[in-house]
Amino acid sequence: MKSLRTYFQLFSIIFLLSHLCAKTESKIKVFENNVLVGEVNTIQNKNFFSVNDFIQITNSKKFINNKTQKVVFYVDNKKIKISNQITFIEIEDNLFQLSSEVVNKNGIYYLPTESFFGIIQNLSISSSIKYTNDEIRLTSISGLKKTIKTVDLRSEKEKWEFKTIVIDAGHGGKDPGAVGYRGTKEKDIALDVAKRLEKKLSKNMNVKIIMTRDEDVFLRLSERTKIANESNGNLFISIHTNAAEDRRASGFETFLIGPNKNEAAVRVAARENAVLELEGTTGKKLTNEDLIQATIAQSAFASKSEQFASMVQKEIKKRVQSKDRGVKQAGFYVLMGASMPNVLVELGFISNPTEEKKLRSHQYRDLLATAIYRAVEQYQKTL
Ligand SMILES: [Zn+2]
Repeated sequence: MKSLRTYFQLFSIIFLLSHLCAKTESKIKVFENNVLVGEVNTIQNKNFFSVNDFIQITNSKKFINNKTQKVVFYVDNKKIKISNQITFIEIEDNLFQLSSEVVNKNGIYYLPTESFFGIIQNLSISSSIKYTNDEIRLTSISGLKKTIKTVDLRSEKEKWEFKTIVIDAGHGGKDPGAVGYRGTKEKDIALDVAKRLEKKLSKNMNVKIIMTRDEDVFLRLSERTKIANESNGNLFISIHTNAAEDRRASGFETFLIGPNKNEAAVRVAARENAVLELEGTTGKKLTNEDLIQATIAQSAFASKSEQFASMVQKEIKKRVQSKDRGVKQAGFYVLMGASMPNVLVELGFISNPTEEKKLRSHQYRDLLATAIYRAVEQYQKTL
C-alpha cells in the first residue's frame, strides 16, 4: 500500500515537471546581451509569437488600437505597423509580405515568427535582433529603452541640450476631449495642429520630433509623459482646446503644472484629467500635496517652462484675434511626470461657437501651429 502511494507521488511529480517543461517550451526566450530578459508567449507551437509580449519586453513605444485592430511598435526606432488578419506588415511606410496573416486571439496580437524575424534580419533594419534556435537575441538596446530610470542622472549639459521636442496631441480614440456646438472634436483639432507643428519644426529646425500619437488612438495620460521621458525630450508641448459651460468664454491660455490657485484653472485641469476615468484609474485624483511634490520635482526646469509658456502666448497673440488669457498653473496629470520643460496649450474654446468656427478653419489652425513653432524657435535662443 505504501509503495503504491510512493509511486503515485512520484508519478505526480513527473507529471507536474513534464507539464512545467511543456509550458516553458511554448515560450520563446528573449536574451539581451546574453542575459535572459523575458519570455514571449506563442501559439501553434511557436509558429506565431505574441507581439504584445515582444513590445513589453523590448519596452518599445507603441500604439494599439483595438477598434481598428492595428498595432504600431518600434524596432530600433523603425516604425512597424501591423493589422489584424492582414498578411502585410508596414515598416517605415514600406509594405512587406508575411507568410501568413496577423492573428488576434483574445486581444493579443500574434505574428508569424520565422517570417517576421526573417524580414527584420534580411532588411537589416536591425543588426541587433536575431531569431535563432527558437530564441530572440537582442545585442543592443533599442533607442527608447529603459531611459526613464536614468533621466535624473543626465548631466547638467544634457539637460539643456535641445535635440528632441515631444509634441502631445491631447485626447484621441475613445476620448474625443471637448466637443463643440457643431460637433468639432478637441482630439481632431489637437492632432491637426500637432501635425502642422511637427512639419514646421522638422522643416526648419535641426531637432528630432517625437509625437505621442500621430493618429486617432487612445493613449493614457501616463503613457504620454512616459514616451516623452523615454525619448529624452528637451521640451514637452501638450496641445488642447478648451471648453466651458459659459458659451461666451473664449481665448487661448498656456498652463504649467503647479498647486491649484485659481478656480478657473482648476476647472480646466479637472476637465483635462477626466480621461483618467476612461483609463479606469480613478481614485488617483491629484491632491494639492501631490502637486506641491510635482512642482518641487520640476523645479529644475520650472522657469524654462514658464519662459516657453509666455513665448507661446505672445506668438499666438501676434497672429490671431482672440483673447490672451495668459499663463496659468494647475494640476495637469499629463504634465506631472515630465522630466523636461513642459506646457499645456489651450488653443481656444471649442464651446464658444465663434471660436469653434475659427478652429475649424485650416488657416486658423496653421496660424496657431506657426505661433507655437515660432515660440520654440525663440525658446531655443534662450538656452
Ligand atoms: Zn484637452
